Amino acid sequence: MLVLLLLAPLRAELKGPEGELWVRPGEVVPIQATGAPGEPMKLVAPDGQVIPLVEGPAGRFSVEVNGWRNGSYRLQQGQQHTTVGPVRVLSGRLPTARVTRANAIYRSGPGEEYDRLDPLPAGLTLGLEARQHDWLRSGPGWVALKDVQLGSFPPSRPRLTNIRMSESPEGRAVLRLRLGEPVACQVDSRPEQGELTVRLPGAGLTMVEVAYGPEPRRVRAVQLASTPEEARVRLTLGPEGNWGYQVRWEAPDLVLDLTPPPHRGWSNPPRPAGAGTGRPLVGLVIALDAGHGGSDSGAVGLNGTCEKDLNLALALALKQELEREGARVIMTRETDRDVADPEAPAEEELAARVRLAEEGGANLFVSLHHNAMADVEKGRKAHGVHIYSYRPHSRALAEALAHPLAAAIGESEWMALWRSFHVTRQSSMPAVLVEANFLSNPEVEARMGREDYIPQAARGLKDGLEAFLRAAAGP
Ligand SMILES: [Zn+2]
Repeated sequence: MLVLLLLAPLRAELKGPEGELWVRPGEVVPIQATGAPGEPMKLVAPDGQVIPLVEGPAGRFSVEVNGWRNGSYRLQQGQQHTTVGPVRVLSGRLPTARVTRANAIYRSGPGEEYDRLDPLPAGLTLGLEARQHDWLRSGPGWVALKDVQLGSFPPSRPRLTNIRMSESPEGRAVLRLRLGEPVACQVDSRPEQGELTVRLPGAGLTMVEVAYGPEPRRVRAVQLASTPEEARVRLTLGPEGNWGYQVRWEAPDLVLDLTPPPHRGWSNPPRPAGAGTGRPLVGLVIALDAGHGGSDSGAVGLNGTCEKDLNLALALALKQELEREGARVIMTRETDRDVADPEAPAEEELAARVRLAEEGGANLFVSLHHNAMADVEKGRKAHGVHIYSYRPHSRALAEALAHPLAAAIGESEWMALWRSFHVTRQSSMPAVLVEANFLSNPEVEARMGREDYIPQAARGLKDGLEAFLRAAAGP
């Protein structure tokens, strides 16, 4: 049987997009397919129109289709064919869905590989503009079919009618945006401009009344704008800038909670380096997250070093350094264990780590890891310090840590990079993920095995944190 299979002519299977496709009239949707290289492929519309696909490398074919018709399309190559659709051209009132899951994941494209936008609140009604298989588009993003209920819901018409602001003496600012109904709110932060914009897709503005607190310091001005797609609330922040924020739906208000700076007068992004002296870590709360642990060993070096052990050793050494300088440290783990249940999915494990930091009132979050590459050959040669941030208000911290860490461990390359990791997506405080160096490189792995590696790395990170905080504290 095996022999027969091996002798059968190898033929690439024809594969096109799966499941239902909803499009708006006139919308162009790219179609991608795979099949046998060198053989023409075509898409046949329900009315018989033939649309040839263009061949790319390695048996990949694609075409941009417009003028969609209702019904099923046929994708054809030689004797093979498969169905695309059924296609539904949306006209008149858009179909609707209601979000059934709290903090439903909202992405920039129809698949898990796309970036996450800010999550959607449960109970939100979405007008659907497109569907690709199990993904539905509404406004700027896509939501998975499993997180919504399809049905005929009355369209939501949130209207922003007033904004109330209050500020606590330590600098926490709370803005309550009266909308009446939940919205798929998205926050854009521009720390360098001292701005933060709350985008409210689908919402309108009516005679918005803005009530400032008695002495507005964190939020200096509020500007409103609206387009046919969304309403926007642009905040001009005071000199302390953005230390983080949380957005939550508390019917009938959308609440934006601006994290207070660790000390009055500190600013994020930090002022030009060189400012400030003294011991900036005194009184600060820092969450240290030793990556992986317990059932998850993380990367494993060619000589058997486990990432989870290195991460923990580094976290414990850094904890000592920071405490010596007067900081309070929250550890997500202090032993070789899972933080959530060992059987829990990865998402839950990571969420548990973020929760510990948030509940402990951390001012900064630093997740400690060691790097590897899936490609063994590339991984053997890779080296360098990589520090990741996601939210714009975390970028300055990533930049401040990269060089001091590299210098301390004798590494010649360092980079601050942008990437959406679970622990860096959190918005309530500056949060970074440190990949100290490449465990997959046996030369680097040997260096990490030396006694002085951990204390040097811990010292480098402490120096970087101090540099960030000194600059934040200003002159
Ligand atoms: Zn890791």
